[in-house]
Amino acid sequence: MKALSVVRSVADLRRAVAERRTAARTIGLVPTMGALHDGHLSLVRGALDRGDVPVASIFVNPTQFGPNEDLGAYPRDEAGDFAKLEAAGCRVAYAPTVEEMYPGPQLTTVTVTGVTDHLCGPFRPGHFQGVATVVCKLLMMAMPDRGYFGEKDYQQLQVLRRMARDLNMPVEIVGMPTIREPDGLAMSSRNRYLSPAERQTALAVYRQLIAVADAVRDGKASCAQVAEKAAKALLEAGFDKVEYLTVVDAESLAPLEHVHGPARVAVAVRLGRTRLIDNIAV
Ligand code: AMP
Repeated sequence: MKALSVVRSVADLRRAVAERRTAARTIGLVPTMGALHDGHLSLVRGALDRGDVPVASIFVNPTQFGPNEDLGAYPRDEAGDFAKLEAAGCRVAYAPTVEEMYPGPQLTTVTVTGVTDHLCGPFRPGHFQGVATVVCKLLMMAMPDRGYFGEKDYQQLQVLRRMARDLNMPVEIVGMPTIREPDGLAMSSRNRYLSPAERQTALAVYRQLIAVADAVRDGKASCAQVAEKAAKALLEAGFDKVEYLTVVDAESLAPLEHVHGPARVAVAVRLGRTRLIDNIAV
């Protein structure tokens, strides 16, 4: 048997998972949209570390893209992705077509309220419903013991945690730390859109996140004032737009005026045709 099995149908995925699940071996699902980098592979390693057989999915999910977003331009490199998954120790790659995921009209969706009111929610209407629905479907298809998700998409992680908890899904949602380039830029498939000059400008995102976290940590400073100053600095550094730069409660994601408990600084900016998001713990 080849180290990595590539499957494209729900039936083949279920067969591949059933063959690998034993009393001693649990299954860890790593959902991705492909164009894999070390951030994705760290999730595969996280599954291996916990004793799971890693199963990755590669699916550019149309329902989580808005009409003016980058669905058509989203980078795709299936052969490269399979090679990276195999080298990382992943055992099954599920790469379905859109028709396999959505055969005919879908009348059922998953909507998570509350945590979607903030941050990216208002800027990407329908996005988290698309994410929650596709991840719910992937979890039902693979039936893993654990699902692995990156803190890079912190709001997505919170949305999926709520979904799993509220719907009593028999799966543990595991959040994994953000993997960064040596200079601090969070790894993202969308970094490929950046020109060399934009790539340099993009460094300011992580720097400002650190500056904000440092400034609000002791609970004295006004989060809104500190964040406003940092947003101004980002615009001066050359970003076209700061959609938000906000200090939020780490669980509810509601904006905070002062930090008194677990908090996160989160940012979304636009640079040319690229939208970048990042966040760090306070
Ligand atoms: P995507 O392919 O962008 O949908 O991401 C698939 C998964 O990889 C999601 O759970 C992301 O949060 C996670 N991920 C993406 N970039 C990183 C990163 N730099 N560090 C850790 N996890 C990441």
